[in-house]
Amino acid sequence: MPAILNADLHCHSVVSDGTLTPEELAARAKANGVELWALTDHDEIGGQRRAAAAARAQGLKYLTGTEISVTFADETVHIVGLGFDADDPRMAEGLSATRGGREARAREMSDQLAQVGIKGAYEGALKYVGNPELISRTHFARFLVETGVCKDTGEVFRRYLTDGKPGYVPHRWASLRDAVHWITRSGGVAVIAHPARYRFTPNEEYALFTEFKAHGGRGVEVVTGSHTSAEAVRYAETAREFGLAASRGSDFHCPDESHTDLGQLPYLPGELTPVWELLADRIQ
Ligand code: AMP
Ligand code: MN
Ligand code: MN
Ligand code: MN
Repeated sequence: MPAILNADLHCHSVVSDGTLTPEELAARAKANGVELWALTDHDEIGGQRRAAAAARAQGLKYLTGTEISVTFADETVHIVGLGFDADDPRMAEGLSATRGGREARAREMSDQLAQVGIKGAYEGALKYVGNPELISRTHFARFLVETGVCKDTGEVFRRYLTDGKPGYVPHRWASLRDAVHWITRSGGVAVIAHPARYRFTPNEEYALFTEFKAHGGRGVEVVTGSHTSAEAVRYAETAREFGLAASRGSDFHCPDESHTDLGQLPYLPGELTPVWELLADRIQ
């Protein structure tokens, strides 16, 4: 498939912190002109069967997907996995272990928010949760908007849910090495998600890309809903420098919250190797 392709290889359903079902996402992707799609729920592959079936029903080409939470140099990094075998037990076990800490973290977040006068946040967040194993900061953010504490989810993250703020609980996720291995050993390609979002020094970023490659990682998101056009240019250069394939994805979560809709983003720069070229035999 060509580099100039409306591929959207990053989005979320109710199986993690999105608000649409896999079927609703498939229909929306199709309506928006997406040609190749992947559902990439956080630390979960529970929506993969439904997504693949919905893609087939819509006449969309599909790659399996997930977005794994990783801790690297004391920062949370997201690694997208594409085109793996969703029935591989190594992937399922790794993701299950990664999800395991979320419940206790959520209770601690709620306790901290109570200390600044916001009561019942755990129960409030749970109302938005589609998957009991996947309670995330996004669900807390929706509750704080509902109760009028903040006007939108962006404000909730700025005031409460980021490092140093009263509802932020540091958490240790999977290692970079494990996440890349779960993906590659189940036949997929590992991709560094939205690299411009991390607060790394140049040395730390260099270490991330170097170690990611050494573990077998092969791709980086260049065009994403999280990047400005200048950031896309910058990471196109990084992709070339490290010999990585380029990926493209909206990171769509919700019609009311996401500023980038499914498939509505610039094409990949033509001179890069698109990640779907590495995955030609994994496309369903
Ligand atoms: P968690 O995995 O529970 O730490 O939640 C991470 C999720 O929170 C991300 O995948 C985004 O969906 C959301 N998120 C993180 N930062 C922001 C932000 N500044 N504004 C809105 N949503 C955010
Ligand atoms: Mn999310
Ligand atoms: Mn992410
Ligand atoms: Mn995402």
